[in-house]
Amino acid sequence: MKAHHDQHFLIDPHATQRIADLAEVKGKRVLEIGPGNGALTSALLQRGAIVYAVELDGRLCEGLHTIFSEEIAQGQLTVQQGDATRCDLPPFEMVVSNLPYSASSKITFRLLKIGFEEAVLMYQSEFADRMVAPAGTKNCGRLSIMVQTYAVVQQCFKLPPNCFSPKPQVHSTVVKIFPRQHPLFPINDRDRYADVVRALFSHRRKTVRNCLKGSGGMLDPEWVRRMIVTLPEEILKSRPEELYLEDFATISNVA
Ligand code: SAH
Repeated sequence: MKAHHDQHFLIDPHATQRIADLAEVKGKRVLEIGPGNGALTSALLQRGAIVYAVELDGRLCEGLHTIFSEEIAQGQLTVQQGDATRCDLPPFEMVVSNLPYSASSKITFRLLKIGFEEAVLMYQSEFADRMVAPAGTKNCGRLSIMVQTYAVVQQCFKLPPNCFSPKPQVHSTVVKIFPRQHPLFPINDRDRYADVVRALFSHRRKTVRNCLKGSGGMLDPEWVRRMIVTLPEEILKSRPEELYLEDFATISNVA
């Protein structure tokens, strides 16, 4: 990992407490990705959470072992060194993290796949805005569709760069994520759904028909042909950014 890459530590105690207060963590197993030097970790421990912290940087892990030796000895905190985009993750019910910006997307998709009760996550604001962008608006993309299909996302508050050290160049937004029990619209095959959404948003200026025809290896060509004769013209002639959330399910559910 590059030196200081993606490390912006919370230094505003009020902001740290506000984040920790967003979820009822007492007695819950809470995954914290990128604990850094433990500002948020400490707030979570104070509120009675059982924290599983996964940190990429070995030096920071050593620091956490020193700062929290008591909590670790008592089993209230576990510190694991690893890359949260791909390492084995401990079991958890909740996630509370100030995420590394460059891994936000991978980590979010991974968490949604694993499942959890509730998450409080901090992202760069531009990313958080895309998460909540409704279908049919300019900001809406693959991230928006995938997240909104499987979860309800609420923006809670913004934090300016001076809450962190070193200061990031962008504002941050804290969001809450509640996974849905079932996707908003029935989806027959989740992998195909993901492939369809990806194929559509890789050419957002083209029509749905042309996106799907030109989707290369992403989708089975035989299936694409069936889909094009089955789907209503209204969907086929739209651009992906004009579709309703439901349309993505309709497209991917073609047998
Ligand atoms: N939560 C801390 C630090 C946030 S900065 C605070 O609020 O003060 C992001 C943290 O994520 C850094 O400590 C960085 O080392 C860590 N990190 C970066 N990429 C990671 C990854 N792929 N997996 C786990 N941790 C990562």
